[in-house]
Amino acid sequence: MKNYQMEVIPEPAQGTAAILALNKSGQYPLMEGKGTTNYLCGACRNVICKSVERGQIINLVFKCPNCGSYNHIKGT
Ligand SMILES: [Zn+2]
Repeated sequence: MKNYQMEVIPEPAQGTAAILALNKSGQYPLMEGKGTTNYLCGACRNVICKSVERGQIINLVFKCPNCGSYNHIKGT
């Protein structure tokens, strides 16, 4: 399993980005798959995308359920 840290970004203006978020807070992944890559919150290192395929996730912003930071994947 490879771990990649995502980049923390400012909160996107409403309607400008697809944001994935959970209503509950804590150390939960927002997405879980059967791949070989973990994506971690750039601020608190919570695993936000667990076992996903690299390149599978594009144009998505993740709101970390643990610390509330907005993250995106670098280079996409
Ligand atoms: Zn976080």
